[in-house]
Amino acid sequence: MREIPEPALSGRTTLRLGGSAIAELILETSHDLEMLPERLRRLGGSPLILGAGSNILARDGQLPLVLVRPRYTHGPGTVSGRGDKVFVRVGAGVPLSRFLRFCLKNGFSGLEGLVGIPGSMGGCIAMNAGSFGTETAKHLYDVTVLVDQHIKTVPVADVGFGYRNFSIPGGENNFIILEATFVLTKSKRDVIGNRMFHNFFEKKSKQPLNARSAGCIFKNPAPRTPAGRLLEEAGFKGKRRGGVSFSSLHANFLINEGNGNASAALDMIEEARAAVRQRFGIELTPEVRIVPCLF
Ligand SMILES: Cc1cc2nc3c(=O)[nH]c(=O)nc-3n(C[C@H](O)[C@H](O)[C@H](O)COP(=O)(O)OP(=O)(O)OC[C@H]3O[C@@H](n4cnc5c(N)ncnc54)[C@H](O)[C@@H]3O)c2cc1C
Repeated sequence: MREIPEPALSGRTTLRLGGSAIAELILETSHDLEMLPERLRRLGGSPLILGAGSNILARDGQLPLVLVRPRYTHGPGTVSGRGDKVFVRVGAGVPLSRFLRFCLKNGFSGLEGLVGIPGSMGGCIAMNAGSFGTETAKHLYDVTVLVDQHIKTVPVADVGFGYRNFSIPGGENNFIILEATFVLTKSKRDVIGNRMFHNFFEKKSKQPLNARSAGCIFKNPAPRTPAGRLLEEAGFKGKRRGGVSFSSLHANFLINEGNGNASAALDMIEEARAAVRQRFGIELTPEVRIVPCLF
């Protein structure tokens, strides 16, 4: 198992904020999984499973965290087919963009709505990432996880998932996704390509995809009540302070303008929550994972 001392979270998250962790452990083999509990005991701190870091806001300073990065980058590969359905296996460390290119090339439909999301497959499953009516977990067939020091393959019927959450029975939030099988539908490549193209340009026109961000900061409190609209009406669209801002393109995207820090970001988040609470009586909850979690 590779171990990197004092890794900087700012270099490992798309928001580019945060201090340093105790260590980073890179998991690449099944032997690494066997050694993990002992290594975590020796290092102390709390483990944080890290994918592509695109949904993480890490606090400043020296953080009592050990980053655990499952770099299982095998696949995607077709394992079987049944009628117009196809089963595709993929490692948790594979970028979503690579998986979507594979789907496009092979004419496998289902996940076109996820185009433009910058995560790893493990992170997309753990967050049940979704967009344009597509939800990652709805296309899962099974998922292989390390839970309670055992490797288990859990059928999708036994996992729990909802809006931006995913759970494994007996695992609460303590599981590492290693690989997964998706069930997709065979379709025409040009139809899939057109859908991806349309979704990507739609996303790009409404979200600051090239800025340093972690995507949407808050969950939408209800399907017809987007957090972005509440933030905009509360006067936060384009608001900037301390090197961070709420995007002028999409108010639910918090941006690090290059000289921000996590304290400034957290202050802005709290201020926005308080303003929305006061104005609409609605409590926004973060979609972004704030680490370490202090409550
Ligand atoms: C520009 C931009 C656009 C975005 N658009 C969307 C969008 O449209 N829809 C959407 O849902 N999200 C969106 N996001 C947020 C983010 O990309 C998704 O949540 C993504 O799925 C996170 O994947 P990741 O690999 O980066 O996970 P990370 O950010 O590394 O981790 C996120 C969470 O998943 C856990 N996790 C990661 N890997 C594993 C694993 N292997 N096993 C167990 N737990 C794991 C982490 O512990 C953490 O709690 C966007 C982000 C950005 C920056």
